[in-house]
Amino acid sequence: MSFTQPEESPIFNQLSIFGHQKVVFCNDRDTGLKAIIAIHDTTLGPALGGTRMWSYKTEAEALQDVLRLSRGMTYKAAITGLNLGGGKAVIIGDSRLDKTEALMRRYGRFIKNLNGSFITAEDVGTTPKDMEYIRMETEHVTGVPESLGGSGDPSPVTAKGVFMGIKACVKELYGTDSLAGKSVAVQGIGNVGENLVHLLREENAKVYISDINEDRLTQVAKKYGAEAVANNSIFDLDIDIYAPCALGAIINTETIHKLKCAIIAGAANNQLADEQVHGKMLLEKGILYAPDYLINAGGLINCYSEIAGFSKKRTMQLAENIYEATRSVLKKSKTDNIPTNEAANKIAEKRIEDMRKIKGSY
Ligand code: NAD
Repeated sequence: MSFTQPEESPIFNQLSIFGHQKVVFCNDRDTGLKAIIAIHDTTLGPALGGTRMWSYKTEAEALQDVLRLSRGMTYKAAITGLNLGGGKAVIIGDSRLDKTEALMRRYGRFIKNLNGSFITAEDVGTTPKDMEYIRMETEHVTGVPESLGGSGDPSPVTAKGVFMGIKACVKELYGTDSLAGKSVAVQGIGNVGENLVHLLREENAKVYISDINEDRLTQVAKKYGAEAVANNSIFDLDIDIYAPCALGAIINTETIHKLKCAIIAGAANNQLADEQVHGKMLLEKGILYAPDYLINAGGLINCYSEIAGFSKKRTMQLAENIYEATRSVLKKSKTDNIPTNEAANKIAEKRIEDMRKIKGSY
């Protein structure tokens, strides 16, 4: 999943580079809505992706973001074994100032007109309340509040998937997937991070935690018997596993040189600052990297379960499948001697290719 920079390319050229099926520009003068919905690929099922509301500096920037993110969703659904395609939407505007009920509902009508080929969910700048407004216009939305039959907070499911990804990596390196006695540093103990700390401590792992929120750090350390460390010293720890659960682009040339761990497996999105460069650097340094978009797919699994009407138990079972999916990626990386992120991309592409043979587009 590497991207050239198509900023200067005309729109159709960009769509060809990324391989998109359809891009819809939504413009409504009455509500001020300006949105772009990108449907990347629907071979595996309807395109599912969040709606991001952001003050993009230019329309070109918004377009590039939605194309990049929607393509990423195709890979995420494919590698996770879900019957979903990849899509994403962006609303151009300041979510604190420009968002109104009318704007969200008008946007919902645009989604309705896509007849189920695109299903949305919340993302940066949108909330369960916004999903509720969209739901008033169309059924093609997930992540509505639990009180309205939604699937609720995805974080425990995401943490479970990350936990299974960690276990798969440990199995690969140590021959057993037990985490007892293994040392893990969790960076960022927010919604996902805290749930992960809980699971790790239940298996008697030695857990270090860091966060910029000092109060939370003290609280979580005490609650689970984890050791709080200063945020800037996390890269000095000699540990088995580093689990980034806060920021993107945290794996870069500088941090790779510093890291003294055997495994990187965490929830944060887009961990590699440069997928090609840093995936390869990790392979060369002998650090096993669990591709972020695979092991953090619990959020997507939660949305999928909401659409399919699955129970919480079934949702957790789907998250547990991330163990085997990660094992397959690690195996391919070893056999082909390629970075794990590249191996994951190849497996995702192969699944789409195979499914294309048995059915046409959704
Ligand atoms: P969150 O906002 O609840 O938690 C993030 C935590 O990171 C906060 O406690 C924050 O104080 C801390 N933090 C921020 N900057 C930091 C820094 N520089 N160093 C250390 N800590 C820092 O978010 P979340 O829902 O727990 O998600 C965590 C990551 O996982 C994000 O990158 C998110 O995109 C990704 N993710 C989350 C889900 C989900 O289900 N919530 C699904 C997929 C991916």
